[in-house]
Amino acid sequence: MTQNVYKDLLEVMTKRGGPYAGLDIPEFYALVEALFTPEEAAMNNVLLRKPAGAEDIAGRISRDVNEVTGILERMADKGLCTVFQSHGAPLYQGTPFMPGIFEFQFISGGETEHEKRIAELVHAYKKAYESAKGADKISYPATRVIPVARTIKAGNVIHTYHQVMTYIEKYDSIGVGTCYCRQAARLRGEDIHGMPLEVCMWFGDMAEHIIQRLGGRRITKQEAKDILDRCEEAGLLHMSRNTTEDIEFLCN
Ligand code: SF4
Repeated sequence: MTQNVYKDLLEVMTKRGGPYAGLDIPEFYALVEALFTPEEAAMNNVLLRKPAGAEDIAGRISRDVNEVTGILERMADKGLCTVFQSHGAPLYQGTPFMPGIFEFQFISGGETEHEKRIAELVHAYKKAYESAKGADKISYPATRVIPVARTIKAGNVIHTYHQVMTYIEKYDSIGVGTCYCRQAARLRGEDIHGMPLEVCMWFGDMAEHIIQRLGGRRITKQEAKDILDRCEEAGLLHMSRNTTEDIEFLCN
């Protein structure tokens, strides 16, 4: 029987939004019970989108700060929350499934039995979600295509390389991880048609998070440019979230 903590988690993940937010279907519970222990689920349920220190969080729920820190640290290492450093101290942020928890599970490129199981469970949830609800309709583009320097072979859209380069020049911290979509497909035994895997690029604080917690790799500006070139050769588009002037990630 589903524990109440996972029912509460459904409500929290629904409110956090994004594609494939919470939905009350059996596949949701199968997935979250594999991702979160009951203790971690309860902690997830009190995390806010605004990053906060362990002391603040412990104060808010009247718990011992050391206990709370231990749970949060474990969750950060499992890709179940996001951590930012502020004045040398960690701040923890509640994270949606996408972009966030789903991608975080696969950044290291690992191939353990647990990762294979999560790949199956995420896939089953997304399929069941789509058939129950239909693909999410977004009123504005969630991503924007960043122009690249050449004409894309498959189409006639002319792009310039300049904007992607501007982002690469702008950030001192750049990290790269394994593309969740392709890695999860691979773990499910599907053919990814030779597409490059280590292409999911993160910038600034998010780069530090994926490098320090999730097995992402720190890269130089030159390596970032080389990855972009490889992606172009493979015919991949470069996209980022359509929300701010700054970008947290670059999807290839
Ligand atoms: S590269 Fe794009 S599709 Fe792949 S995990 Fe990153 S954001 Fe998702």
